Amino acid sequence: MTQLLATHGLQAWYGDAQALFGIDFELAKGELVAVIGANGAGKSTFLKCLAGLVRAKREAIEFKGEAIGGLPAGEIVRRGLALVPEGRRLFPSLSVEENLLMGGLTRRAGPWNLERLYALFPILQEKRHVPGTSLSGGQQQMVALGRALMSNPEVLLCDELSLGLAPIVIREIYAAMPAITGEGMTVVIVEQDVTMAQRVSQRIYCLQEGRVSLQGRSDQLTHSQISQAYFGV
Ligand code: ATP
Repeated sequence: MTQLLATHGLQAWYGDAQALFGIDFELAKGELVAVIGANGAGKSTFLKCLAGLVRAKREAIEFKGEAIGGLPAGEIVRRGLALVPEGRRLFPSLSVEENLLMGGLTRRAGPWNLERLYALFPILQEKRHVPGTSLSGGQQQMVALGRALMSNPEVLLCDELSLGLAPIVIREIYAAMPAITGEGMTVVIVEQDVTMAQRVSQRIYCLQEGRVSLQGRSDQLTHSQISQAYFGV
């Protein structure tokens, strides 16, 4: 498989505090890769660097052979990376459909449109005229996911899709992934639910205190390897 996205010694800071200490990461086209790790390990910071929301050195992030680190977030969306942010962050005054359409403002050519999304999540069509923030947590997560898909990204970056959701709802959200990757979409998920991360991904990176503590094929990593890399015990 061809490499689509990579980071080379990626570092990130918040002021004087360093959050990432040299992350080497690779993603091939069509893969679903999970980034796991404890609270504060740097998972969200990693995704935010990829999405242009936290500064990175230009050469530290490579997408389709071009250095994109530190480019403005809008430019990164135009190039084909879209973020589903932690906590959904729907536009409070907008309806479900308007939220989805906002994601389409930076629209690239591709298979995703309203019709397609409503087929994937029929409940969103039913509720398309109600305020997005009046939906349940799981339904809001579907809107956030749909909004990112509306830009027709090449790489979908998902930050903690399962946050605050009941197990059955988490399964419902992740059940949409085969339809998404089936189109050749490449996906990075940051996930605290390690069991789910292992189940849906092909490869896993575990972060610990801003460094990669473990990486490997999801079906080959053992429980004890993961817990050691996760907690550092
Ligand atoms: P969580 O699961 O809690 O979101 P995480 O693995 O995503 O954790 P990050 O949110 O990336 O971790 O945080 C990595 C480090 O950077 C932590 O030490 C955190 O305190 C710090 N950090 C994150 N955001 C900021 C910020 N806006 N300002 C200052 N420090 C931050």
